[in-house]
Amino acid sequence: MSEHFEWTRVMHELKRRNLRVLRSEQIAPRMQRITVVGEDLEGFVALAPGDHVKVFFPDPAGDGTIFTPARDKEAPAPAGEVIARDYTPFAFCAEGEQGPELDLDFVLHANDSHSGPAAAWAAKAAPGDPLVVAGPRGSLVPPSNIEEAILLADESALPAVTRWLDLLGDTPVVGLFTVDNPETASYLASYEGPSRNFHWVSGEDRADRIKTALEGLNIGERTMVFLAGEASSLIPLRRYLRRELGLPKQQVDAHGYWKKGEANLDHHAPLDPSDPDED
Ligand SMILES: Cc1cc2nc3c(=O)[nH]c(=O)nc-3n(C[C@H](O)[C@H](O)[C@H](O)COP(=O)(O)OP(=O)(O)OC[C@H]3O[C@@H](n4cnc5c(N)ncnc54)[C@H](O)[C@@H]3O)c2cc1C
Repeated sequence: MSEHFEWTRVMHELKRRNLRVLRSEQIAPRMQRITVVGEDLEGFVALAPGDHVKVFFPDPAGDGTIFTPARDKEAPAPAGEVIARDYTPFAFCAEGEQGPELDLDFVLHANDSHSGPAAAWAAKAAPGDPLVVAGPRGSLVPPSNIEEAILLADESALPAVTRWLDLLGDTPVVGLFTVDNPETASYLASYEGPSRNFHWVSGEDRADRIKTALEGLNIGERTMVFLAGEASSLIPLRRYLRRELGLPKQQVDAHGYWKKGEANLDHHAPLDPSDPDED
């Protein structure tokens, strides 16, 4: 029974890490991998696919200084705007050539009038640039008895999808991915395998096509469904899973990672405010 799906929360020491960019490389259309290094990464832990770090960026209109929140009530307030966004730790290497390394994969959506400071920073990041990273505060470790998984994501959640795939090993996976550019499929090329069935959907009607694809899948009691990406587009999918199919919340791991037209979405706010059962 799916109520036997048990998630385990593990808390970590919350550290604010002063790091610098080691390299920046394009890994797929509109996707940039930024590797940051620094002694402060010692002891970095990220155990679960949904782990995220808070990344602090310089104000694009400022002199490059990165402001972080005051550590306590007595400490002076920061002298400039604190700009922070959530990112998935794609990979951590404790023993890189220049010490511990952390890879963060950024969607470069900031190429029009709706630029965001994080994507704009990632597009220009160069070796030596400073970056401040805090967290993860904790890891929510998925159940160990998952028998199959459905991973549904847009570009912003592909790093989390790789973390799920690493965790799931040979467990059968159906991936439903909506992307602006079909060539983004190259991001998961090295993750393909016999137990994995990836579908890439682009175009104006992609939201409808993803819903149809989801409705065509058999979802058993030990199927884990992970959905993450643009918040509004996830609401009908989550409603289908929770209300129409009646799946319990331990089986449906849904997260709005960003919201069209809204800067710095608070991802702790309910994805679907009309749902009294929201966490
Ligand atoms: C737990 C978690 C993990 C995440 N992991 C990653 C990750 O690994 N990689 C990653 O790229 N993102 C990730 N995100 C999403 C990322 O935090 C947001 O996309 C963030 O808003 C980007 O900040 P920004 O400064 O570039 O844009 P903002 O200033 O927040 O927004 C400016 C404008 O850009 C739009 N916008 C924001 N993000 C996107 C997008 N992805 N595509 C198109 N338009 C967008 C907004 O709607 C707004 O109109 C994650 C979010 C969460 C909650």
